[in-house]
Amino acid sequence: MKLVRFGPRGQEKPGLVTADGRLKDISAHVRDYDHDFFAGGGLERLLALAATPDALPDAPAGVRLGAPVARPRNVFAIGLNFSDHAKETGKEIPTEPVLFMKATGAVCGPNDPILIPRCSVKTDWEVELALVIGRTARYLPSKEAARDHVAGFCIANDVSERSFQIERGGQWSKGKSSDNFLPLGPWLVTADEVPDPQALAMRLTVNGETRQSGTTALMIFDVWHIVHYLSHFLTLEAGDVVITGTPPGVGMGMKPPKFLAAGDVVELTIDGLGRQRCVCEQA
Ligand code: ZN
Repeated sequence: MKLVRFGPRGQEKPGLVTADGRLKDISAHVRDYDHDFFAGGGLERLLALAATPDALPDAPAGVRLGAPVARPRNVFAIGLNFSDHAKETGKEIPTEPVLFMKATGAVCGPNDPILIPRCSVKTDWEVELALVIGRTARYLPSKEAARDHVAGFCIANDVSERSFQIERGGQWSKGKSSDNFLPLGPWLVTADEVPDPQALAMRLTVNGETRQSGTTALMIFDVWHIVHYLSHFLTLEAGDVVITGTPPGVGMGMKPPKFLAAGDVVELTIDGLGRQRCVCEQA
């Protein structure tokens, strides 16, 4: 299934995308795709609704898409999970997953503007595979067990302000958490429709020029390892979002470095997960 949320920001309704690409409104049946939905077996209930899509009303044509999950309790992010990206940023290849946090308020829709923060001079892009936790995970016994705790996958742009992140003291969260620094979607594709999350091409363009062209096959730590690993340090709650690292080709790694400016168009694709298109705006 492909889960979507649509409507004005803050008033999104839950929906489904049918196999032939129609957007259906399921707000009569489901309140929202939030912690309670995933924790309460919502995906199983949704399967029954998805079986008869013609019985569901259409969503309005041309409606805005929100992030495919409601504001999560946590957004966990893995840094430097591709060796070539670690190299381009001048960092050592990590021996354990590098964890940082993004503010949950940074989540926005897949086609919302990327807001360039005031005083920013180094707003950068990062295409990433995101996963959504479907069942609370703590102290998982194995990598294999992680499969039962992931609801599905979507595209994320881990937008990053490099001067805030690196030059303004302390660790990374300051440069990762501005408004609209986490476009998610367009859809949450359930895990059953992503048979191998480690075999997905991922691509990002700026104004039509390819900047990142990678594959999840080259992750240092795969998604199941990440979920298993994190569960030994913290509780992953249903509805939480985990973003799993970016391939090489970010602006800070270019020679000379390039960053985003108002008017730039950033487009992201990952195999089977759709496309994002964001225009940059000054905050
Ligand atoms: Zn990242």
